[in-house]
Amino acid sequence: MEHYSRISTIRENLNSGHITCVALVEYYLKNIQENRHLNAFLEVWTVESLSRAEYIDSKVKAGTAGRLAGVVIALKDVLAYKNHRVGASSKLLEGFESLYNATAVQRLLDEDAIFIGRTNCDEFAMGASNENSAFGPVLNAADLTRVPGGSSGGSAVAVQAKMAHAALGSDTGGSIRQPASFTGIFGFKPTYGLISRWGLLAYASSFDQIGPLTQSLEDCVILTEIMAGADGQDASMYQREAIRYSNPVAPKKAKFAVMKQGVFGEGIDIEIKEQMLGLIQKLEDSGHEISYFDFPLLDYMVPTYYVLTTAEASSNLSRYSGMLFGKRSANAKDLDSTYTLSRTEGFGEEVKRRIMLGTFVLSSDQYDAYYNKAQKVRQLIRTETEKILQNTDAILLPTTSTPAFKLGEKSSDPVAMYMADLLTVQANLSGNPSISIPAGKTQAALPFGVQLMTGLLEEQKLFDLSKLLEETLG
Ligand code: GLN
Repeated sequence: MEHYSRISTIRENLNSGHITCVALVEYYLKNIQENRHLNAFLEVWTVESLSRAEYIDSKVKAGTAGRLAGVVIALKDVLAYKNHRVGASSKLLEGFESLYNATAVQRLLDEDAIFIGRTNCDEFAMGASNENSAFGPVLNAADLTRVPGGSSGGSAVAVQAKMAHAALGSDTGGSIRQPASFTGIFGFKPTYGLISRWGLLAYASSFDQIGPLTQSLEDCVILTEIMAGADGQDASMYQREAIRYSNPVAPKKAKFAVMKQGVFGEGIDIEIKEQMLGLIQKLEDSGHEISYFDFPLLDYMVPTYYVLTTAEASSNLSRYSGMLFGKRSANAKDLDSTYTLSRTEGFGEEVKRRIMLGTFVLSSDQYDAYYNKAQKVRQLIRTETEKILQNTDAILLPTTSTPAFKLGEKSSDPVAMYMADLLTVQANLSGNPSISIPAGKTQAALPFGVQLMTGLLEEQKLFDLSKLLEETLG
């Protein structure tokens, strides 16, 4: 079957009777079968997705199908889909089934999306390589010796290897954008509070956002529009009614602020640097304005992120006590040993490291030195980000300083792994929307992305500028 890379072309072909939802689901199931070695899926809903496809086909015939008819989506294993298992790629949640639908999931279902399976990720979304999954790493389809990025590695590879039309991920410090960059697709983290987090397994609640991974900018816009908007179940949301974005159009004149460290910083891969400089030159040649800014706070970004997210994680993950959800240790004898053994046996090494770190920074002796201090630095990062954005349309920088690294390359050095988030955490600390756009490939055929960030709730502007970058990159 021909591959359809846009929601709009799927729709045209469904309407004309050229394809059916069943044929589309069969196509993706076949690709999943052929790409099992990539380990992108933890579970595939074969029978169910086919029967749902049949049902949506009948709606297409009757002229009552929603906007996402025929759109086959993979769900990161942190999103609640009623009566389906969800487990954050952790042994601790083995066998646990969602009791309700995440709001984002429900909104896609209401538009007739078809969910094909749940994707592998770093355990509780903690990681940048997908190597922290209890169910083994995901492989990058561009090079099987390399990581796909993380934590939404399975979702990214599902789209990269055409095992789903699009996927959902969550982004706390880069988990959508970084794997999108490593796999050559679009990945978008919306403004904090744009998409409801109801039904998302929490990692760090003041950072977490749900977002799409797609083959095209247009699809990213459509999926965001459908998921966005007020939801009474999430108190952190911007209370906005339905949101409408128009089809992205490249502006004739735009202003970009380039973070110096993102181009000239040490550690920026030479090919990524050259691509950035080439892009900047082309933008200038077509009359767009480029300015450079220095961001000394960059050095504090990753430490601030890890102090705050581990603190929030230590609190969020305290609910996994062996009592209510998931695994209870078979060796437990009383209440204390139920807590201790269930958590000891259930959580992986990285999750334990973060719970300990988070508990430490929140302890009364250390609270002022770490947690309080980090909150202040976060505020500085927000203020500085806002200042830069007042004089420009968008911040432009690479998504990652290098293309996908080798499996095992950073797994024995947590700090080196944390540095993989250097360029993505700013948007989570400040709450701004940020997108990764495929920017090309290195000579070794490894994809990488460029990143754009606009002001809070300036999604439309972000999409329009993304269109400009897409056209400029060619
Ligand atoms: N790599 C980052 C971390 O490990 C980001 C994870 C995420 O965005 N969920 O925290």
